[in-house]
Amino acid sequence: MSYPIVVYGHSALRKKAREVEVPAENTTRLVDNLFETMYQAEGMGLAAPQIGKSLRVFVVDGSPLGEDEPSMKDFKKAFINPRITKIEGDEVLMSEGCLSIPRLREEVARKSKINIEYQDLEGNSIKEEYTGYTARVIQHEYDHLEGVLFTDKVSPIRKRLIRGKLNNLSRGKFKTEYRTKLPNGKIW
Ligand code: ZN
Repeated sequence: MSYPIVVYGHSALRKKAREVEVPAENTTRLVDNLFETMYQAEGMGLAAPQIGKSLRVFVVDGSPLGEDEPSMKDFKKAFINPRITKIEGDEVLMSEGCLSIPRLREEVARKSKINIEYQDLEGNSIKEEYTGYTARVIQHEYDHLEGVLFTDKVSPIRKRLIRGKLNNLSRGKFKTEYRTKLPNGKIW
């Protein structure tokens, strides 16, 4: 089942999400729904708070970019109850977007290497290390579980410049190809 994606200004995007049980039918269903919603919106990452569920789960699928970016080819998985245990490396500036912040892209500085621990759907604990583009995608999605958005991380000047656009988004002044849910609960 696919969900509308909650848009900038919605309270679900600002909560610290809570852990889920695994293995559990609800969690398996949530992961399926996240993938389905992400594919419908043509995104490559989606976190549970973006469908209004304040739970520590996000999914990624970078395979559509696999041709240009080999590290993304097999980068398809669900991160359940993730914990970033180490962030290191150089700060890299790169343009980011977000399904919850339609039609806005900004340069965001992030470190190039992370270590992450998470669970799979069977409840196994997994520890992995990521660098480069995959590390960036994970940090972006992980931020959603902490109530943080990429627009929080842009320079103070850019923040001032995009304030009007963000206000418009939260009031439904935008168009997307996918279904969205405004801060007032209206499906758009
Ligand atoms: Zn996002």
